[in-house]
Amino acid sequence: MSLELRDVSYTHPGTDPAAGRLLDGLDLSVGAGEVTGLCAPSGAGKSTLLRIAALMVPADAGTVRINGQEFSRGTPVPREVRRSVGVVLQSPRAAADPRMRLDALVCAPLAFREGAWRPRPRRHAGRLAELAELAQLDPELLHRYPHQVSDGQLQRAMVARALALDPDVLICDEPTAQLDSESTAAVLGMLANRAAAGTAVLIASHDTAALSGVADKMLDLGGINRAGDRAGHA
Ligand code: ADP
Ligand code: ADP
Repeated sequence: MSLELRDVSYTHPGTDPAAGRLLDGLDLSVGAGEVTGLCAPSGAGKSTLLRIAALMVPADAGTVRINGQEFSRGTPVPREVRRSVGVVLQSPRAAADPRMRLDALVCAPLAFREGAWRPRPRRHAGRLAELAELAQLDPELLHRYPHQVSDGQLQRAMVARALALDPDVLICDEPTAQLDSESTAAVLGMLANRAAAGTAVLIASHDTAALSGVADKMLDLGGINRAGDRAGHA
């Protein structure tokens, strides 16, 4: 279980070429069982980098390796590989379907993997209970809709959802930015536990203090990006 980026460069389509590349010659690797923290000021390209690492957006040049399997621009990404990469985003409210109860949100990936059209909480009750326990979520909360729970509770459910498929690689973009200290600790604890089971975990955050408590390694985006000097001044 590993994530590696080699010599990755990227410019957003339609951006001013005079501003140069947003990401330039970037190398990054996260090994099995490792939590890597990525720090960057706003606008430096952190979210863009994470989307490339999660194979959601192809890099202009360079390669992304997931468990040693190499992807470059134009390489099709098999569904199994896509499913082996879990993603947690900053805003659980934006990411969660407001019409789905928490139990449906958490078990949806399990149901979709089986080809079901909609989540099947009862079918996945066992795994759901395990995931809820990991997230320190009261089972009662699983029957609520997103608008009936706090940001912290919702984000813990979204992390549980990302863990449902036992990802080999877990990529998190500011996963605790909107949370209180209790939920921040719960979320970081879930991510650290997952790493202890062998997953390669990459967490981007501007909250260096909270992150350094769980990260095995801290990287500064400016330090691994040759475009670092220009980024943030666009
Ligand atoms: P960060 O996550 O570090 O704040 P982002 O990766 O979101 O940075 O964005 C880096 C820069 O690229 C910003 O200047 C942003 O406005 C720009 N950007 C992000 N996404 C796009 C896009 N889809 N098209 C054009 N520019 C973008
Ligand atoms: P985040 O930091 O979580 O990526 P942003 O507000 O930077 O949030 O971006 C929200 C969405 O808008 C992202 O999908 C990003 O790619 C896109 N985006 C950001 N900046 C631009 C831009 N200048 N032009 C087009 N799309 C952008």
